[in-house]
Amino acid sequence: MENKILELSKKLISVPSVKGETKELNRVLETAKKELKGHFYKEYESNEVPSIIFYNTKTLPKKFKLILDAHLDVVPGNSEQYKPKVVGDKLYGRGAYDMKAAGAAEILLYKDLAKKVDYPLGLQLVTDEEIGGFNGAKYQFKKGIDADCIVVGECSSDFTVSVASKGVLWLKIDFTGVASHAAYLWEGKNPIYEMNQFLNRLWKIYPIPTKKVWETTVNVSIVGTTNETGNKVPGDASVRLDARYIPGEGEKTLKKIKSLLPKNAKVEILEFEPAMNTPESDPYVQSFIKTSEIALGKKIEVVGKNGASDLRHYPKTAGIEFGPIGAGPHTDNEWVSIKSLNVYYKILESYVLSLNRK
Ligand SMILES: [Zn+2]
Repeated sequence: MENKILELSKKLISVPSVKGETKELNRVLETAKKELKGHFYKEYESNEVPSIIFYNTKTLPKKFKLILDAHLDVVPGNSEQYKPKVVGDKLYGRGAYDMKAAGAAEILLYKDLAKKVDYPLGLQLVTDEEIGGFNGAKYQFKKGIDADCIVVGECSSDFTVSVASKGVLWLKIDFTGVASHAAYLWEGKNPIYEMNQFLNRLWKIYPIPTKKVWETTVNVSIVGTTNETGNKVPGDASVRLDARYIPGEGEKTLKKIKSLLPKNAKVEILEFEPAMNTPESDPYVQSFIKTSEIALGKKIEVVGKNGASDLRHYPKTAGIEFGPIGAGPHTDNEWVSIKSLNVYYKILESYVLSLNRK
């Protein structure tokens, strides 16, 4: 199986399926369709973003028991990264780890098991996760696709299982001052100083962590003013914030940030995406941990994840993030361990089969 997964991974990696390249996004899905010839599927398209769901029942089920999900889009890489390269146990390439190799494993697993399970099993392949998943996973959800449990092959390290991930809050804050000539400061009011004071207060409450933490963090992404003149007191200033909040702290974070602002500041919410939080006690999560531990022969660690995934678009579904071993997602050095792909396949296989009613 290792070889088959490797070959299909290479095929997927060689397609530069990045945002805006609808032709390439379709091409990467074609690769999956070719592999799964004869299986039923339904295609979707929203704002030129294609996606697909394969199903093993006569008609599309009202609700799947289990969906295996993979995003086959990638963040842009350098041209060399679309030529997959094997060095020892490592497969290098854009998307090797995030998450075309996991996708390849899921496609081959679905091919092998779709007809061997006695419940509605789906394979969801989307092409816009890296830009939010609104026209892929979320669009399919809006069109009625749902499941009791979804397993996403997102990057995890050392076969950890993730059932919680942070939510995203993007804000644009505008400060208004009074413009004037720079020689006559007293006639104006420079809003950059107000913004600076706000940022200092923010920094005290949300200091920059020096290591990985499971707590709400806030990044100052962009500061600016529309002023382009050197000898002028600017009349406006603005800042963009990117907050990543742990489950349950979304509203609290927004309130906290607002409380640090001067009265005349204007807050615009650009993005407010929910956190993902499946309780560890969920029966699907529990049985996933149990079967994985048996297949792996060791204890599995359950962790919270700092990055968001498409699972947040399925708020009532038991969501599990679980991927093969690798490193360097979104970097020039992205790789996945080839050996781990086989183990990954075996773990997923035992889980998919364990959900049979028998
Ligand atoms: Zn990913």
